[in-house]
Amino acid sequence: MRIILFSSQTYERDSFLAAPRPAGTALLFQPVRLELETAALAQGCAVVCAFINDDLSAPVLERLAAGGTRLIALRSAGYNHVDLPAAQQLGLTVVRVPAYSPHAVAEHAVALILTLNRCLHRAYNRTRDGDFSLHGLTGFDLVGKCVGVVGTGQIGAAFARIMSGFGCQLLAYDPYPNPEVVALDARYLALDELLEQAQIVSLHCPLTPATRHLINPTTLQRMQPGAMLINTGRGALVDTPALIDALKSGRLGYLGLDVYEEEATLFFEDRSDLPLQDDVLARLLTFPNVIVTAHQAFLTCEALAAIATTTLDNIAAWAAGRLQNQIEP
Ligand code: NAD
Repeated sequence: MRIILFSSQTYERDSFLAAPRPAGTALLFQPVRLELETAALAQGCAVVCAFINDDLSAPVLERLAAGGTRLIALRSAGYNHVDLPAAQQLGLTVVRVPAYSPHAVAEHAVALILTLNRCLHRAYNRTRDGDFSLHGLTGFDLVGKCVGVVGTGQIGAAFARIMSGFGCQLLAYDPYPNPEVVALDARYLALDELLEQAQIVSLHCPLTPATRHLINPTTLQRMQPGAMLINTGRGALVDTPALIDALKSGRLGYLGLDVYEEEATLFFEDRSDLPLQDDVLARLLTFPNVIVTAHQAFLTCEALAAIATTTLDNIAAWAAGRLQNQIEP
């Protein structure tokens, strides 16, 4: 059985080769992103293993099915990039890794908060340049601050536990309140109320039609002046140009992004020799109170090992006629 891994990086190759895999399988590591132009590379591969920025729209799925693919094994938890009805119509099974390390993502969100608050990114550059002054580096204590958690599933709950440890007051918004988060003394509120009361807002909900541009010009107006927004969920949870206006006016005091709506053709590649063509991202990167990381929140040794093990286990189960971690429309 041939398994092609699109968008695969060297660090993933190591974890996949170290994980147990079904006998008689060949892993084809392919660094290119899956899109219509590259789908032909999967010709004859029963399994296509895809990551978050691969294109799994209907035309690509049709091309894959025509080439003999039967299983789409996502190396991610999120599946907003898959046209599930089209996959079902084409007889393609789709499986995913529902949880690999919620801690990896939650801890990255906290890293963004601390970096922005204590201006570590600026201090790092300053001291390396022989500048030991402190002006412009004043932060704030986290203890006692109101932290709004939007989406309190596995990652949101792990994030809430950490922030509770800092002595923060937790506010939460989720259509399905999590008893574990309630037990941390979190108050579940309507989204508007959370945005009005929180000094820090962190997004941990999936991207769905209901959550697309959840943060937009109207909701940004509800936020506290100078609030901090952290997005490690999905780029399209926020209307990015609206963030620029909010940063310019000071409505938004700090912004930490690990995801970006237009990241698919940018992230995971070294583009340092090329002019940045994305003017919105270029403008964001000019603000001293903004940090952008290139979708690295998942990137820990533990998470990589878990992604590889669960993905290969999902494939082995499918090959044996048992379906696990399947996603249906
Ligand atoms: P999860 O399914 O455990 O939790 C998601 C939570 O969001 C659930 O409690 C659900 O009820 C809630 N939710 C659904 N619709 C909502 C809405 N309209 N408003 C508020 N909450 C809503 O998922 P998880 O494992 O915690 O992952 C959350 C998201 O994090 C994923 O969907 C993915 O997009 C993102 N993610 C990012 C990275 C990264 O590297 N940056 C890695 C993994 C996951």
